[in-house]
Amino acid sequence: MKGRTRNLAIMGYRSVGKSSLSIQFTEGQFVDSYDPTIERTFTKHTRINNVDYEIKLVDTAGQDEYSIFPAQYSMDYHGYVLVYSITSQKSFEVIKIIYDKLVDVMGKPYVPVVLVGNKTDLHQERAVSFEEGKRTAESWKAVFLETSAKQNESVDEIFLQLLQLVEKESNGSNPP
Ligand code: GDP
Ligand code: MG
Repeated sequence: MKGRTRNLAIMGYRSVGKSSLSIQFTEGQFVDSYDPTIERTFTKHTRINNVDYEIKLVDTAGQDEYSIFPAQYSMDYHGYVLVYSITSQKSFEVIKIIYDKLVDVMGKPYVPVVLVGNKTDLHQERAVSFEEGKRTAESWKAVFLETSAKQNESVDEIFLQLLQLVEKESNGSNPP
């Protein structure tokens, strides 16, 4: 069973939980330490609204404010998961820079994006408010979610929402 292939990339500053979210979504487990330098493609099959999807999710090795947007991520991708950690203001600043570079490289004003504030289980260490994340996502016409890869909170929702944005985009009805 192959279905509709959707190529997605997960990006963000180091240590925000990109690999943890990828593994939680595709394998249903939380892995406590995962080599941060590996770039890996995870595949998952899922069925949404009677359509079979083959999701190919590229777990990138991470970017910082100085990274040049990797050209290979601008082609043949349908949508992007942009992740920061709610415990790190720095990671929030970096994700905004990554977004600007992404839009610049794509050369179009709208790109299907889900903005994710991860690590909600660490609420005592929160450094970025829900409102800040939400406002930023709204300015991008992106979906916003807060998640916990550790507690498997709203992880599937990221991909459900992103696939819906990608479908709308291919129907020509984005941005909403
Ligand atoms: P990446 O560099 O963005 O791929 O981040 P990783 O997935 O390797 O995660 C970095 C660290 O944060 C690891 O120690 C993870 O166990 C931890 N981590 C990831 N997601 C969560 C989460 O939702 N909650 C908590 N408490 N820790 C997390
Ligand atoms: Mg990683």
